[in-house]
Amino acid sequence: MFPEISLIGRLEALDEASHRLQARLAELPKILTAEKKTVEEKKRHLDATRGRQQANDGERRARENAVAQHQSKLTKLRKQLDAAASEAQVQAFEHEIAFATNAIATGEDEILTLLLEAESLTAEIEELEKAHAAAHKQAAANFRSAEQEHKTGQQTLAGQAGERAAVEGQLSPAMAQLYAKLRKRYKSGPIVAETDEGRCGVCQIEMRLAFWQKMQNEPDVLYQCEECGRILVCNKPVSPVEG
Ligand SMILES: [Zn+2]
Repeated sequence: MFPEISLIGRLEALDEASHRLQARLAELPKILTAEKKTVEEKKRHLDATRGRQQANDGERRARENAVAQHQSKLTKLRKQLDAAASEAQVQAFEHEIAFATNAIATGEDEILTLLLEAESLTAEIEELEKAHAAAHKQAAANFRSAEQEHKTGQQTLAGQAGERAAVEGQLSPAMAQLYAKLRKRYKSGPIVAETDEGRCGVCQIEMRLAFWQKMQNEPDVLYQCEECGRILVCNKPVSPVEG
């Protein structure tokens, strides 16, 4: 294997790690935005349910007022009935009394239905408040940990950039140039390709027999895939990068 391959491998591992970390850091704001949306949705649901509770309350008060009015009218009608002077008057008052009694019964039924609805709305609101508070708390905690992750990530990236410069500095100018050229071409992908039974391990092209035999016979020379240009090695000497 040609001597600089371990430096190239290290450079590649650093680039891969930085690329992964940059992608992860770019994901963070999206994750936080999605989470914020979830919290807002929970708040909207809570507000809508509170609105329903208010409407229920208003409706119940209106019904209660109507029933009270019918009741006071009923009291008045009963007195008028006692003082009725003719059969026609008795019939008229009795008719009105029946109407008011009926209206009171209907109103009371409606009030009961509204009360039952109010009870379940109160329970629902309690659950929604809990869910909203929990989501809000979780989102705030995640925001803080994302901030920390971002900060640590930036430090790691700076460290990787420093190490990268040092490794690059040890390469011959020609090799550094080749690496830079390949990196430009394969921004996030591999630059070193392991051979795979006579094929390039990345682009999978089958090598010419003469080329393949030369690789076996003169292993200490730089070989590039004739198809994709990647640096070929029989065993990739890659040391993983933390983070
Ligand atoms: Zn290839």
